[in-house]
Amino acid sequence: MELEKQVEETIRKYKLCNKKQKILVALSGGKDSTVVAYLLKKFGYNIEGIHIDLKIGKYSEECLKKVKELCENNDIKLHLYDMKKEMGSGMCYIRTTIQSKNVKGRIKNCAICGVIKKWILNRYARKVKGVDMIATGHHLDDESQTFLMNILKGSPKLSANSGAKTQNIKNKKFISRIKPLYYVAEKDIRTYSKKMKLPVNYSGCPCAIDSYRIQIRKFMTELPTKTKENLIKNFEIMSDRIQKNKDTRMKYCENCGEPARKNICKKCELMDKC
Ligand code: AMP
Ligand code: ZN
Repeated sequence: MELEKQVEETIRKYKLCNKKQKILVALSGGKDSTVVAYLLKKFGYNIEGIHIDLKIGKYSEECLKKVKELCENNDIKLHLYDMKKEMGSGMCYIRTTIQSKNVKGRIKNCAICGVIKKWILNRYARKVKGVDMIATGHHLDDESQTFLMNILKGSPKLSANSGAKTQNIKNKKFISRIKPLYYVAEKDIRTYSKKMKLPVNYSGCPCAIDSYRIQIRKFMTELPTKTKENLIKNFEIMSDRIQKNKDTRMKYCENCGEPARKNICKKCELMDKC
């Protein structure tokens, strides 16, 4: 099958992982990460799953249900992170509190959620015995959107952390991340997940309403896959130069001890406002 070959080729060409390593797949309940876990398992990789229960009402209940079904059907050990239990509140409460204290430049819903999820995933992955890396469901559409957004913001350097795998981050507490669907178009992932009848929550997150990404996504939807691949190629050409000039050293957050570029990590900077 075309999609399966594409993913195998990405893993091989970019040396994303091997069968001796343990991969923790970040499972949202959506089609992309579901396909990642399904395929890595099918190809014989050693994987476990982690789902962050964001506690966004019915949406989160449905995501949890699908993730459990996937892991049961495919014999994948599942780790659950309950935001209410671990952080005291669900994502909606944390997010609106941050936004209400930060009225000047209202930080977008998805930006806050993204920072907090990354923080949780990195911290949790270190606790799971033997985990070598985290795999996410980011795909060609996500990545080409991000690249274009960063160019339009005038900050192509923000793409330094992009790519099929994280590179050159020198920090003992940082768990590297891989994106096996980096070269796969979103529409093909949808078709595949339906064809294989995978348990997926196809409804989008109800909080993803105001993001800049939605505007970009609308604009890019109609573009052919080839154009999106071309955008990514631009990134790859620039990437070497960005990487060379990048400060790869990281510190540890003075508040939580997690890897950080500044004295305080992005998550603590946000939560400080809670
Ligand atoms: P998003 O930031 O929602 O576009 O998701 C990007 C990737 O992050 C997904 O493909 C998943 O691999 C991971 N992810 C998103 N939400 C969750 C979640 N609630 N629990 C675990 N992983 C997640
Ligand atoms: Zn911190």
